[in-house]
Amino acid sequence: MAVYNVLESAVRSALDDFFAAGYDGCTCDQCKSDIMAITLNQLRPQYSATQTGEAFIKAKLMSDQLKIDILHEMANAIEIVQKNQHHRNN
Ligand SMILES: [Zn+2]
Repeated sequence: MAVYNVLESAVRSALDDFFAAGYDGCTCDQCKSDIMAITLNQLRPQYSATQTGEAFIKAKLMSDQLKIDILHEMANAIEIVQKNQHHRNN
């Protein structure tokens, strides 16, 4: 198992939930990736190399403060991406 940033899956699932809840902006892959990249750049990475480490970090991710931080940075990122969309128009 390679080293990876556990926050990546946390941000992805937070974003999926957000989109599913009735987000009215663009949800194309490009915008989604842009939002994720901006959000992750604002947060301190939580790297894991093992499944045990992953479980530990995921438990930590359930802490309220970290959830608040993720949602806060995600909201900022969404605003930025909405104003500077990189995707092709249909
Ligand atoms: Zn888009």
